[in-house]
Amino acid sequence: MDTTPATPLMRQYLKIKAEHPDAILFFRVGDFYEMFFEDATTASGILQIALTSRDKNKDNAVPLCGIPHHAASGYIPKLLNAGHAVALCEQMEEAAAVKGGAPLRREVVRVITPGTIIETELLSPKEHHYIAALAWDAREEQVGLAWLDLSTGDFRMSLSTQGWDEIESEWARINPREMILPEVQSRDSVRPAGDSVHPAELRHRPPKMSAQVASLAEDRSVRLVSPTFFAPEAAKAALVAHFKVHAADPFGDDADAVAAGALLGYVQSTHKATLSNISALRTHPLGQSMRLSAATARHLALFPVSRERASGTLLHLLDRTLTAMGGRLLKEWMLHPLVATDPIIQRQEAVADLHDHLAARTALRLHLQKISDMERLISRISLGVSQPRDLIALSGALSMLPRVAQCATVLSAPLILQLLQSWDNLTEMTEQIAAALVPDPPPSLREGGVIRDGHLAELDALRHFQKEGRMQLSEIERNERQRTGIDSLKVRYNQPFGYYIEVSESHLAKVPPDYIRKQTLTHAERFTTTALREMEARLVGAASAALSLEKEAFDALCKALSQQVLRVQEMARRIAILDLLAALAEVAHQHHYVRPVVNESGVLHIIDGRHPQLSHMQEDFVPNDAWLHPPARALMILTGPNMAGKSTYMRQIALIVLMAQMGSFVPAKSATIGVVDQILSRVGAEDDLTRGMSTFMVEMVEMSQILRHATARSLLLLDEIGRGTSTYDGMSIAQAIVEYVRAIGARTLFATHYHELTHLESLPGVCNAHTLVQADDDEIVFLRKIVAGGTQRSFGIHVARLAGLPAEIIQRARQLLDAHEEEPSPPRQIPSDEEENGAARSLDGRAAHPVVVALRQMDPLHLTPLQALQILTHLVSQAREDFHMA
Ligand code: ADP
Repeated sequence: MDTTPATPLMRQYLKIKAEHPDAILFFRVGDFYEMFFEDATTASGILQIALTSRDKNKDNAVPLCGIPHHAASGYIPKLLNAGHAVALCEQMEEAAAVKGGAPLRREVVRVITPGTIIETELLSPKEHHYIAALAWDAREEQVGLAWLDLSTGDFRMSLSTQGWDEIESEWARINPREMILPEVQSRDSVRPAGDSVHPAELRHRPPKMSAQVASLAEDRSVRLVSPTFFAPEAAKAALVAHFKVHAADPFGDDADAVAAGALLGYVQSTHKATLSNISALRTHPLGQSMRLSAATARHLALFPVSRERASGTLLHLLDRTLTAMGGRLLKEWMLHPLVATDPIIQRQEAVADLHDHLAARTALRLHLQKISDMERLISRISLGVSQPRDLIALSGALSMLPRVAQCATVLSAPLILQLLQSWDNLTEMTEQIAAALVPDPPPSLREGGVIRDGHLAELDALRHFQKEGRMQLSEIERNERQRTGIDSLKVRYNQPFGYYIEVSESHLAKVPPDYIRKQTLTHAERFTTTALREMEARLVGAASAALSLEKEAFDALCKALSQQVLRVQEMARRIAILDLLAALAEVAHQHHYVRPVVNESGVLHIIDGRHPQLSHMQEDFVPNDAWLHPPARALMILTGPNMAGKSTYMRQIALIVLMAQMGSFVPAKSATIGVVDQILSRVGAEDDLTRGMSTFMVEMVEMSQILRHATARSLLLLDEIGRGTSTYDGMSIAQAIVEYVRAIGARTLFATHYHELTHLESLPGVCNAHTLVQADDDEIVFLRKIVAGGTQRSFGIHVARLAGLPAEIIQRARQLLDAHEEEPSPPRQIPSDEEENGAARSLDGRAAHPVVVALRQMDPLHLTPLQALQILTHLVSQAREDFHMA
């Protein structure tokens, strides 16, 4: 087959495509982006557009598909979501400039990858959009992580020497849209650098990076890039060159700097421009915020799983921010609750201040509302992709700065005073924009009319000339009418024919010989004259000269504004904090939250706590207390039937702790929160079918992770542990876990419907609580009140009845239960309540005293002296209790 491309255009295409083998090439031809060959096949499938071919009738017809250029922003996200990169190849000159058969000059102006989007319409305003890189140094046992939001310029790095757990937890919070990894140069590598891979493929890579990296990569787009980006020297050089620092290297030699340098180098290579909006690289120390696993964030419904289902999440409830920057910061604060009390108290004081000053808060929020996303706007301006209206929006935002500062003057919380210190109104920038641009410019620079009259003398002159020219045209029209005697003669302009004289059919006889025919219509003819042609040439020339002058002036303005990127970013940061503090004050005010006492006491005392999301939606919500203070009361065994409110109660406590450590007020009458270093939760059952794990396996895997991480300062939520297996297995595992966790000393809420576990109360540090229900033989009413002590019954059949199971089933279940209850119990490792109350039966059916049952099950050779003493104390108290009862 002859593959030599027939046309110069195709030769140009192939040359450019060869430079971008890893991206789908959007090749601009007139008003369309066209895709050819494999790109066309891939893209037409994803975009659901028709696949046709060039030179259809030939043997080697080239597959082709295309989209209108103005619709590109609708199509690009679909390709990005499918993990592809898109290379935008534009026409770099006007058609008029090219002579002969040569194609227009074309260049790839940008490669858009899933993690490097800067288009406003493709980004969620209140979400960061990160691309991340990982680098590891096996010798030093270090893992470096770097992440960048190109749309805001936010660029950070972290170094972990604690292994993957730490990185994993940070990774979950960053939630990057794309990850770059060095292409591994091993014999088994089959992929070219630059290609995107499916995360599952990573499992087959060399062991050093396989399993862990694959688990991080899950669900996101992974791009293998040339390992040269990750070469420590090259990475460092990228940082040094970008930040214009000298030999004294402020970034260090560790793996985090390698990751950052590699990331910067890679993003620069896709962007083909100086990334002047990246003004700083911040070191983000790990371990300074509460650890919050992705599972816990999910269990607590902190964030929506999809964009449509936001209500019911904590984010939805707390998000009263009015700026996009405040919205992004809220997410960050929610993901990084603090563990040091001082900064928490600082935030609380600021929220309290804004809470108490209703008038100031209202005024402040009125101004904040008018502040558009200055952080993303200045980024777009610096990256050279802004349109006139972006500048107007920026200037509108900046003009609010003095007013915001004015409203905040009545406030006195130290954090707010810090924010107000050396407040920068950026007045020159507003003035620069106002001096150059018209107040209401057209959406695109190409339309012209963007630069204000009086800004550029040369532009003014051209505009004057154009205006005069138009007047001269009316004059020409008048003269020609007189000369020819045709009153209806018109001089007009249209695209693409230009200026013409139109004469209707009936007057054609009067047309003078010097008229040159241009176009024939049904009832008229269009002409031109030498004079009109000259006029036209001058006017068209003036219009294009004016347009390029406007473009130059606009670019110069953008460049001048970009010089101030750092100042704008700093003010954006302050606005974000003020907006968020005011939002937290607003929520606190509206839902009657209180300021919790946050300290290092290690206690958890909550009076009349409410579940933030539920209590807000449910009027009859029942508030509940929590009372944990290790070592005396560290682990609460919470019993009660299904649906009685156990999970809600546990989640509510965790949410209150999380909100408190963010610096927010909390839904309670009062609360004292001894800071927790992490919230570890195992709540609810979810099968993980994608990983081929059963509910029980997922539960056990999560449980083992929790036990590995828990410390005496942690908060553990364990809900229905052991539910996924048989009763006795489950109960035994549950008990063993209680015993283990108790020894760690972490504040723990352990919900179970195995009322048999309540006897563990005898262990030091363990206490019982249960959910109150009112029940007779048939009916059950959940009172949703948590009270001290254990329950004796499961009420499973009551709940089944409530759920609407057919009456026959309920009746039959009751029969079976009665029969079971009359049967001798099988041997148990855990004494049941009946056993504890002296009603237990031994294998031969005779009732045995629970102390006897317990003694029978004991293996003295495997007890420590301390355990023996504890058990003895427990048995003695049980024996005495029975004596008193008798
Ligand atoms: P469990 O974990 O005991 O099975 P849940 O915590 O899932 O029960 O609660 C079941 C339902 O009960 C919830 O969906 C909620 O509507 C309601 N509920 C829970 N706690 C309360 C409460 N304190 N006040 C009012 N309704 C509640």
